[in-house]
Amino acid sequence: MVMEQFLAAKAAVESLNQGIEMLKTFEEVKDANNSATLRFDLNRKILEAQQYALEAQREQLNQQTRISELEQEIAHLKSWENFKEDYSLEEVSKGTYLYVSKENFSPEIWLCPNCFERAAKSILQANGAGVQTYYHSFKCPNCQETYNVSRHTRPGNWKQTKPT
Ligand SMILES: [Zn+2]
Repeated sequence: MVMEQFLAAKAAVESLNQGIEMLKTFEEVKDANNSATLRFDLNRKILEAQQYALEAQREQLNQQTRISELEQEIAHLKSWENFKEDYSLEEVSKGTYLYVSKENFSPEIWLCPNCFERAAKSILQANGAGVQTYYHSFKCPNCQETYNVSRHTRPGNWKQTKPT
């Protein structure tokens, strides 16, 4: 992007230089036919220069937008790095792995591993489906993934109900 901006700026300067050269010639030439042609060419060069200058400005704006996006991403990842230290992946029910706080925060929450791997915090919620079976379903409101746990297993009691 920097190269494109540089080339657009360079082209703008070149067009302006050519325009200035024409202007010098224009001053020297008294012939009416020649002066009309020169005026036309000069206008064209000015328009070209304006176009290149606009292009350079657009490139600069794109870069500023991208920089601000990257700054936001860095800030998010920094705070995520701190946040994720407090959680670990645990088998809360046979074959079901979820992120659980290491420090037994109250109330205990389960975090979706699918979203966790994408640096997003999403708290699993009890889902009605599957209640009649031996399993109880928890759903991620973010990615819609569902996780089955043993019927009586809940956040806060999984250590007691987990079969060994
Ligand atoms: Zn999720």
